[in-house]
Amino acid sequence: MGEQPAAQSLRAVDLLISGGYLATQDDQRRVIYPGSVAVAGSKIVAVGPSSAVDLGCAPRQRLDAHEHVVLPGLVNIHGHASNSLIRGLGGDRSLHDWLHQVCWPCMAQAGDEDLYQGVLLSALEMLLNGVTAFADMWPGVPLSASAVAATGQRAVLAHNIKDFGDARRGEAELQAALDAWRQCDGHADGRVVVGLGPHSVYTCRPELLAACAAEAARHNLHLQIHGSETRQEVEECRAQHGCSPIELMAACGLLGARTIVAHAVHVNQTDLTLLLGSRTNVSHNIASNLKLASGIAPVDRYLQLGLCVGLGTDGPGSNDSLNLLADLKLATLLQKAISQDATCLPAQTALDMVTRHGAQALGLAEHLGSLEPGKQADLILIDLDQPHFTPRHFDRPDNILSHLVTCATGADVDTVVVAGRVLVRHGQPVHLDCADIQARAQASSRRLLQAAGLLG
Ligand SMILES: [Zn+2]
Repeated sequence: MGEQPAAQSLRAVDLLISGGYLATQDDQRRVIYPGSVAVAGSKIVAVGPSSAVDLGCAPRQRLDAHEHVVLPGLVNIHGHASNSLIRGLGGDRSLHDWLHQVCWPCMAQAGDEDLYQGVLLSALEMLLNGVTAFADMWPGVPLSASAVAATGQRAVLAHNIKDFGDARRGEAELQAALDAWRQCDGHADGRVVVGLGPHSVYTCRPELLAACAAEAARHNLHLQIHGSETRQEVEECRAQHGCSPIELMAACGLLGARTIVAHAVHVNQTDLTLLLGSRTNVSHNIASNLKLASGIAPVDRYLQLGLCVGLGTDGPGSNDSLNLLADLKLATLLQKAISQDATCLPAQTALDMVTRHGAQALGLAEHLGSLEPGKQADLILIDLDQPHFTPRHFDRPDNILSHLVTCATGADVDTVVVAGRVLVRHGQPVHLDCADIQARAQASSRRLLQAAGLLG
């Protein structure tokens, strides 16, 4: 009908990202070039060759993706965002000494404003490094939710529950965690999910762990817990409870497809069988494990057995940066080195860890982790026009994967889109004031150190 049928059949979309190398991370792991992604509202509505997608769209906003890789947004599945306030203060200490001498005394001084500024700083840093969704464990969930609302990201937040052997404290913390869930779950247009975060088997009595598991089952909540991080933790658990931390978690009902066990460095065959049988997710936090000399989890083996392993930065107090792509390179190279097998943890599997597996671990695989119509428009553009990405032979898909895993860092992230909204463009936040966030976090950190008596 009419004189311009082609124009009349154009689909109105809000955003068209056009001409890039699409690493879709879909079931076939297709790489499309030149490719385009069309977005309407918060969702992807078309993915394919630019020649097909562009002709059918009338976009409100267009981003040129030539000389860029377009990837699903990165997912960081373990961290403590407010701990950015103690960045650089944990050096050369064991986990136990760092927790008791620096982390807990310092963070105990943090007021609401401090916690908010700490989370905001970390969220900004993650955003600039291409992290569009993250898991976080710490008290002050409403503050974290507000910070996530401000940055535009997604997060699965959990109040970090500990009782240190005190039943009344445990009960109060569990109630605080449930209050935070009632108050904040679904916050920021659904971008905030709230679950439960019992800290570990060494800070929670089994009764509290079981109570957390029961509440999570009752309300279908996501769970995060540290487990088998150090040899000392495993030995003490065996001495106190007669079983490993993973066995204790299983006995308390904590394992399952909606649970992330962070670390899992020191696990035996029994532990592995329990994790596999329950489809529990594992967060590999390689930089933190190295810095605190905890050990190196054999994650290539976990992945080959079928465990869902994602990557976590852990808190910025023990990493000390939130550069997930830098950690990914570290993770892959170390698996090759400890196994003395260069085929270990190949690039495609590594990329899966920070996209598809991360989304699955957060319980959001239906919405995140790949570039496909119907999924949320969470994606990043990586700028290839740089010496360290040259030469490129991207007609070979292995070359694009290798460049992403072993050449790229967070500094190469040019553009970040979450739920269809452009949050970072040309390496700069669109809506946030970096200088102001940094200044406020600096002031909060000074206050904490002074109050904890760590300024000498
Ligand atoms: Zn942690």
